[in-house]
Amino acid sequence: MALVAACEAGEPSTTLHPSFEREGKLMAERVVIIGSGPAGWTAAIYAARANLEPVVIEGLWTQEHMDLGRPPLGQLALTTEVENFPGFPAGDMTEYLDDSIDESRRRLMPPHAKEGVGGRELMELMRQQAANFGTRIIQEDVTEVDFSSRPFKMKTSGDQEFEAQAVIIATGARANYLGLESEKRFKNRGVSACAVCDGALPRFRDRPLVVVGGGDSAMEEADYLAKYASTVYIVHRRDEFRASKIMADRALENPKIEVKWNSVIDEVLGTDEDGVTGVRIRSSLDESQTEEIEAGGYFAAIGHTPNTDFLGGQVEMNEKGYIKWTVPFRTNTSVEGVFAAGDVADDYYRQAITAAGTGCMAALDAERWLAAQGIEG
Ligand code: NAP
Repeated sequence: MALVAACEAGEPSTTLHPSFEREGKLMAERVVIIGSGPAGWTAAIYAARANLEPVVIEGLWTQEHMDLGRPPLGQLALTTEVENFPGFPAGDMTEYLDDSIDESRRRLMPPHAKEGVGGRELMELMRQQAANFGTRIIQEDVTEVDFSSRPFKMKTSGDQEFEAQAVIIATGARANYLGLESEKRFKNRGVSACAVCDGALPRFRDRPLVVVGGGDSAMEEADYLAKYASTVYIVHRRDEFRASKIMADRALENPKIEVKWNSVIDEVLGTDEDGVTGVRIRSSLDESQTEEIEAGGYFAAIGHTPNTDFLGGQVEMNEKGYIKWTVPFRTNTSVEGVFAAGDVADDYYRQAITAAGTGCMAALDAERWLAAQGIEG
């Protein structure tokens, strides 16, 4: 397994007995949190402050995870500036980052852009905050779970075994890309899968932009981007949208949006200096027909995939493969004592702030559920 060099030298994996000792007796962990995006760290901060001594299994920094868009720290680890997480309006945060984040992690972080908070920075701050309250962090992947009886059992890529009375799943969802080499090459330099996160960045303003896809996400992204762009081209492989009529009509009626029907993206064009400069599209009816469109950005809106493979279907999912919340306004799943937070259970909002919110809810739900079982912090 190829570890990503920039992170390999990070904090060593915590070696920890799968169970913790309390009054001389070995017991299962009270809460194990799987996943390390905003939902996972927020759950950890709340659980740690409730004296539940949480363990976060944060995932491994591997090239495979990076390529698939599911690294530790979640999708924000792949994002540059974050302009919509409340509390970070602008400014140079260098001193604050130096002061608050452990040196062993700080030196591995990309340079600070001095324009508010970066995605990786926001996640490192959350991680540090969770660690400050005593969260134990395991740098491994969960490869297998057994939720058939309590305590729940989990195995990791490093052959550790954990037992827990309660589990919070916060492994997120990854944006789907077409899989072109050129998409990878210009990621964060004009290639994005989140208009709400990135659309207002200076590089996309007053320039033509391209959105690929024909579902509600593509319509929403195009509509959102049209506020900033000079023109938005929706590139769709068929001659009708999959999107709901109301959203499709809204996009079709927007004078700044133009649709390239029956077209697929052949290549994202760009240079090392400027990032994305356009796309080449190919007709899906006649492969010999191509066209180049000049554009400052390319947004993939072809769906998301929740990171749930390791669960082996032991938790109920909805028809789109996301974990089902089984109680209204709660984070309970189909397995009593297992909770879910963030994008792994939410294909609708998919924002860092909403993930953090449901992470908080999951920790409170787990705390109250544990208390009802007679297990207190
Ligand atoms: P989606 O409905 O699955 O649509 C994905 C789109 O991407 C489809 O048009 C599909 O084309 C296209 N696509 C998939 N793979 C492709 C490929 N390899 N090359 C080219 N095109 C490809 O996904 P979504 O739009 O992300 O929506 C997901 C769910 O969230 C939906 O249920 C949607 O209603 C919901 N949603 C709701 C809202 C809202 O109500 N505000 C906003 C966003 C999303 P084909 O049509 O040809 O298959």
